[in-house]
Amino acid sequence: MKENRSGATLSSPVTEVRRPVRQLHRVVLIPGDGIGPEVAEATVRVVEATGISIEWEWVELNAQTITESGGVLPKTVLDALGRIRVALKGPVGTPIGGGFQSVNLALRKKLKLFANFRPVRSIPGLMTRYSDVLIDLVIFQENTESLYSGLEHRVAPGVVESLKIITRRASLRIARSAFAFARREGRQRVTAIHKANILKLSDGLFLRCCRRVAREYPEIQYDELIVDNTAMQLVTRPETLDVLLTPNLYGDILSDLAAGLVGGLGIVPGANLGESHAVFEAVHGSAPDIAGKGIANPTGLMQSAVLLLSHLGEKTAAERLHTAIYKVYATRRSLTPDVGGSASTSAFTDAVVRNLEMSPGE
Ligand code: NAD
Repeated sequence: MKENRSGATLSSPVTEVRRPVRQLHRVVLIPGDGIGPEVAEATVRVVEATGISIEWEWVELNAQTITESGGVLPKTVLDALGRIRVALKGPVGTPIGGGFQSVNLALRKKLKLFANFRPVRSIPGLMTRYSDVLIDLVIFQENTESLYSGLEHRVAPGVVESLKIITRRASLRIARSAFAFARREGRQRVTAIHKANILKLSDGLFLRCCRRVAREYPEIQYDELIVDNTAMQLVTRPETLDVLLTPNLYGDILSDLAAGLVGGLGIVPGANLGESHAVFEAVHGSAPDIAGKGIANPTGLMQSAVLLLSHLGEKTAAERLHTAIYKVYATRRSLTPDVGGSASTSAFTDAVVRNLEMSPGE
C-alpha cells in the first residue's frame, strides 16, 4: 500500500480489528443500479482473489425494489444491515427534482453513518492533467445534516424552503473523527471548509466546533478556507491540501472536483462510517450514460474494498489488493476508457486478478 506523507500506511479511519488469519467475514453486498452491479461483480472477484474468506449477503437496492417495497429502505436491506454491520455498496440513482427521496441519504441517516471519508490520491502511472503533482488529500464530510437533512417544503406557491441544519453535536463528532484520523496517520494539517462569511450562524457554529477540537490537537496545524477559495486552491495547488473537514454539500462538490484531479470519478473510494456500522462505496454515482456497456471503471469500488479489508482487520489482503490495482496503472495497459484506455471492466479486473495471483499471500 502506498505510503502517505508520514510514511505510515493510509487506512480506513475506523479502528482496525486484529483478527486471526482465515476468519470468515460476513459482509452485506448492495450492487445498486446503473453501473453498480458491474463494478460490484468486478470488486467481489478481486476481493475473493486475495484468498480471504467472505460470505457475501447480496441485497438488492434500486429503483425497482424501492418502488415495489413502497419505501426507500426496503426491509431486506435493513434486516441484513441489522445483522451484519459492514457493507460494500454500489451506487443507487436518485430521481432528479422529484420522485423518491435519496436512498443514499436515507441509509446514512438511518444507520447514523456520520462521517463520509474520501481519500483522494494520485495513482502513479495514470496520466492526468495533474500527473506531475502528487495529490494526497482526505475529505472528511459530515454525512447526516446541513442542507442534506432532507427538510424541504413549499412555503407558498412559487416559494420553497430547504433547511440547512447544523448542530454542535454532529459538528464536534465529525471534527473529532478528522483530527483523530490526522493524528493516527501522521497528517500535518486539517482545514475546515465553510461559508461562514455569509452563513454566519450555521457555518459559524460548525467552525466554532472545529476550533474547539483543534485545540485538543496542538501538533496538527489547523486553518480554515471559504469553500469558493478551496475550489480554486484545489485546482491551482492541490498538493498543499491535506485533510479537508467539511459539512456535506461542500464535501460532495469538492470530492467530485478532487476526483477530477486524479483521473476522474472512476478512481476515488469512500467509506460511510458510524459508531456501529460501516458502508464502503465509491464516490461516483450510477453513471446511467455508460451502464450496461461493460466499460465502467471498477477502481473506485475496488479501492473502497481495500478500506473494507483494512476495517475487517485483513491488513495483508488490503495491501495486496491495493498493490495489484496500482500495478495495472503502472503498466498503463488494461485501463478503462474513462482513464484513457480501451479495456472493458472485466479486462481490467482480469489484470488485477493476475497481479494478485503473481504475488500470493502467506
Ligand atoms: P455519476 O458519478 O454517476 O457520473 C458522472 C460522470 O462520471 C458520467 O459521465 C459517468 O459516466 C462518469 N463515471 C462515473 N463513475 C464512473 C466509473 N466508475 N467509470 C467510468 N466513468 C464513470 O454522477 P451523475 O451522473 O451526476 O449521477 C448519476 C446518478 O447517480 C444520480 O441519480 C445520482 O443521484 C446518483 N448518485 C449516487 C451516488 C451514490 O449512490 N452514492 C453518488 C453520486 C450520485
